[in-house]
Amino acid sequence: MKRRDFLKSTTAFASLFSTSTLFANNSDNNFEKLLNEIFGLKENSVENYEKLNKIKDDYILTEEEYIGEVKDSIIIESKSDSKASIIKEKKSILEDVFIEEKFLSAFKSVRKKLNLVQSHVGYGNFNILSFDEMIKIAKYSSQIGSFTKDELAFLESIFYYDPSIHGFYGKKISLNITDSINKKEVVKIPYTGHYLFKGEPEKIYYQMVADIGDSLTLTSGVRSIVKQTKLFLDKVQSVDGNLTDASKSLAPPAYTYHSIADFDVGKKGFGTANFSSRFALTDEFLKMRKLKYIDMRYTVNNKDGVRYEPWHVKII
Ligand SMILES: [Zn+2]
Repeated sequence: MKRRDFLKSTTAFASLFSTSTLFANNSDNNFEKLLNEIFGLKENSVENYEKLNKIKDDYILTEEEYIGEVKDSIIIESKSDSKASIIKEKKSILEDVFIEEKFLSAFKSVRKKLNLVQSHVGYGNFNILSFDEMIKIAKYSSQIGSFTKDELAFLESIFYYDPSIHGFYGKKISLNITDSINKKEVVKIPYTGHYLFKGEPEKIYYQMVADIGDSLTLTSGVRSIVKQTKLFLDKVQSVDGNLTDASKSLAPPAYTYHSIADFDVGKKGFGTANFSSRFALTDEFLKMRKLKYIDMRYTVNNKDGVRYEPWHVKII
């Protein structure tokens, strides 16, 4: 099966258990109760979910779209520096690091479960779902089933390993896999399916929309460890298990600034191109560059080993 077909088939599988059927079904009462406990009743009504799904078609990128752009981005080249020549030589013989074979089956089943959890809780809610909540959701849902010992061991290893072994030098942001987003500290941004932290990030985002115009939108905001894990594993899958390649465009689960403040913006209707170097050519980005109060996290040649990301706004 080709990679794209594989991704499509998992998506199709997940949609068999879509949230709208779930809420229509009274037999999973406990599960519905759990969802309401975590996210609050209002957020999870069928009506809201359907509304969000409609909006999603217009503006929100699915993970598949979000992760599909790595080959299109500007390649970061390091300038040659005679003093650094020893390091450079060493770097050039470093081989790409791949996911270990013993983890392959857990890798596959974890991705499947994360997809199911996401379609059960809804796209917006999944952005702020904690590890413990994920475990509960899976356990309570007869259609997902508890995470196995092997799957949990895999999730832990992908959270706690040191990514500098494959050339990712970003700062560690989350220390524990169970760290959670305080839902009182975040606010849902209408028509985006995403959240921002209250305070500085929210203020800056709305200031940007006021200064740049309504064509600017939030394309990714607060991401819990679970959300980042899903994105990272999807990315790893899209580059055939190559961790070196994956981490150039997506930070490993413990290393994303999306878990504490940063967010991504894009041009409405620009779709996947928002996560490519093409975003740097839009009017929205040109206006963004003139704003004195914002900063870019991943500039060209950044030391973290991450590609150039003009759409990623640095807050902290
Ligand atoms: Zn970002």
